[in-house]
Amino acid sequence: MTYVITQSCCKDASCVSVCPVDCIGPVGAPGESTDSEMLYIDPAACIDCGACVQECPVGAIYHHDELPPGQQRFGDINARYFQLHPSPADQPVPRRDHAPVRPGSLRVAIVGAGPAGCYAAGELTRIDGVQVAMFERLPTPYGLLRAGVAPDHQHTKAIADLFDTALCHPRLQCHFNVEVGRDLTHQELLAHHHAVIYATGASASRDLGLPGEYLPGSHTAAEFVGWYNGHPDHADAEFALSGQRAVIIGNGNVALDVARIMLSEPDELARTDIAQHAVDALSTSAIREVVIVARRGLRDAAFSVGEFLALGNLDRVDVVIEGADLHDAPGDDAETALKVEIAREFAQRSPTSTHKRMVFRFLTTPVEVVGDGRVEGLGVRGPGGQTVVIETSLLLRSIGYRSHPIPGVPFDPGSGRVPHDNGRVRDHDGQPAPGVYVTGWVKRGPRGVIGTNRGCAEQTVTQLWTDFDNGLLTRDIDEHTALIGLLAERGVQPLAWQDWCAIDTAERQRGLDRSRPRDKFVRIADALAAAKK
Ligand code: NAP
Repeated sequence: MTYVITQSCCKDASCVSVCPVDCIGPVGAPGESTDSEMLYIDPAACIDCGACVQECPVGAIYHHDELPPGQQRFGDINARYFQLHPSPADQPVPRRDHAPVRPGSLRVAIVGAGPAGCYAAGELTRIDGVQVAMFERLPTPYGLLRAGVAPDHQHTKAIADLFDTALCHPRLQCHFNVEVGRDLTHQELLAHHHAVIYATGASASRDLGLPGEYLPGSHTAAEFVGWYNGHPDHADAEFALSGQRAVIIGNGNVALDVARIMLSEPDELARTDIAQHAVDALSTSAIREVVIVARRGLRDAAFSVGEFLALGNLDRVDVVIEGADLHDAPGDDAETALKVEIAREFAQRSPTSTHKRMVFRFLTTPVEVVGDGRVEGLGVRGPGGQTVVIETSLLLRSIGYRSHPIPGVPFDPGSGRVPHDNGRVRDHDGQPAPGVYVTGWVKRGPRGVIGTNRGCAEQTVTQLWTDFDNGLLTRDIDEHTALIGLLAERGVQPLAWQDWCAIDTAERQRGLDRSRPRDKFVRIADALAAAKK
């Protein structure tokens, strides 16, 4: 028997380099991620050593005999991947470390303390001599790990332990609660650092361009996710949970997160780190059906196999499939074939009248949000070309994200990203701008899972080292203390690592009182007060 990678695979490939027989894949080119949704272990090659288990930052790897309930299918899924993609797992390319640098010769600012920024920090701090200053607009680190990953995916949140190694490194200074663009300008950051890496993510939602899109009752999925995860920007959001049906446009993993949270038992959610206001609101929710509308077919569904499969384990929820071609097709890759197989299994189950329903409607294109003063339904064109209205008072648009422009940094409004070459920003004339870099969603767009940011950060930091070695990062810069003085003059109260530790302890303590992993502060003022206690 062998080891098996399961649903919460973060894909950061920590396991790959420790495998003595290279049986984990697929592996991308150095610094790059593959298109596969997760990593798999080839059971024919695994020697059962367990090295990967120790290394996995999210606890996603189990011995085959010890697969937990709901995850047993992954034994077969790992094996099937290698049956359909029989090329031997690629040899991981050993990484080449940069030599230590003279203290003071490279000071880097990282803007954004989410997974992308944390992986970049880890890449830099492991080279002796490099100094890093991390800036984050919230009083709390971890970005989407804290405010995006669904509360019922607590396993994934364990990756914070990995990030902490970088964030509490003696050569890294945290400046949380500082917003670049408001409290400090891009030019000021450049004046005090040899290089600046933006890891600011993609928090703006894309627009549909449909009539009625912004009627009350129509929200972005990002608002709902931020609300249930206790993001301060969304603490006051309100959603119409009094109707029996909610409709979500788009069928990516965010849509599945939102649908699951809406249909989960509140008592189950109350054992997670979900915001208390969300548990309270969901406890009185009347929603019994969530319809997930996608313009394309099942084979082009944006959700991943693991997340789709897991829906079958939801307590007292039936998964209903409409408008999908459920036949096997030669040429389907392993992940597509599994989506079809799992959808077929869902379709064959007998629905139970007392259960809630999660309905997947494929080949269904939204054409109009209808309602008199507020949302009453979503007009859609179905597979046969007919237009119908799906009645609802709550519509969530889950069609992906775009980045906010960073004042002073080039931005491509078309793609909603910063233009770059391998992470080095290109200026408005298309010329390289050594000293300014991007990583994460602001660099590559809103795709990939948490660990995808690792290869992305490696690529960006490699580009930074190339510029450093070519003598392009040798500008004279001002003392770091001058920057801190500037913030003080502006009345900004930066939080250090220890301040975050105080917030963390307080949140965990509040959680203990309610038998929860933590009870988050959802107001910035409350987090600041906890930091300074
Ligand atoms: P996504 O995966 O890109 O899905 C976006 C969805 O919106 C697709 O179904 C897309 O359909 C649809 N869409 C886009 N434009 C549309 C339009 N104009 N009209 C109708 N539908 C439209 O985005 P996401 O769900 O926001 O996820 C972002 C990333 O985070 C993904 O890489 C995802 O895997 C990751 N994530 C992972 C997890 C997890 O692993 N548990 C959880 C959350 C998020 P088309 O395909 O037809 O364009």
